[in-house]
Amino acid sequence: MPVFKANHTEPDILSGFFFVGKRFLSFSRRLFLAVSSVSRTRLPFFCFSRKYYLCRVMKKIRIGYGYDVHRLVEGRRLWIGGVSIESPKGEAAHSDGDVLLHAVCDSLLGALALGDIGTHFPDTSDEFKDIDSKELLRRCMSMVKERGYCVGNIDVMLRLERPKVKPHVPKIRETMAALLECDIEDVSVKATTCESMGFVGNGDGVDASSVVLLLPKND
Ligand SMILES: [Zn+2]
Repeated sequence: MPVFKANHTEPDILSGFFFVGKRFLSFSRRLFLAVSSVSRTRLPFFCFSRKYYLCRVMKKIRIGYGYDVHRLVEGRRLWIGGVSIESPKGEAAHSDGDVLLHAVCDSLLGALALGDIGTHFPDTSDEFKDIDSKELLRRCMSMVKERGYCVGNIDVMLRLERPKVKPHVPKIRETMAALLECDIEDVSVKATTCESMGFVGNGDGVDASSVVLLLPKND
């Protein structure tokens, strides 16, 4: 009797393992075929869509360049990037003369082919007499946003012989990031002297340039 039981139990266990193994192999095969089918039909579509999307966004990206220069005279405050810096001389201008923000405004307008800062804020108008250049930048940003853009990143360069601007760079970046409505990491501010050469080197003037990248907001 025990021998009879053993003979029947052993094949049952083996057939059970065989059955489970066969089902597992069948399931694996079906899964493999399903994945292969999706890869063959859908993957090229996904790749094409992504490529099309990137091309569409890349076409909308705009780059802008701006430049500004001012004479330095006694009796005026020195404004750099929205920050007032202690100095015996400041920019001679119709507005507050913030040379760096003017270059930034020009680059924003240039990116959208909207002309230059003088076109939008003429120095012949009383409306802009002694105006805070931060306000001019806010107005330029309104034009940028109205056209569906935001600032990707910006890189500016200031040329000033004295005083040293480096200690003020963190505050300038913070101020500009707030005005441009972007992260401070996206705002690069660099400053250099002209080693006593030219109108910057002899302290007669200051100039600044700016390069900005604008990105479409809704893509
Ligand atoms: Zn200016």
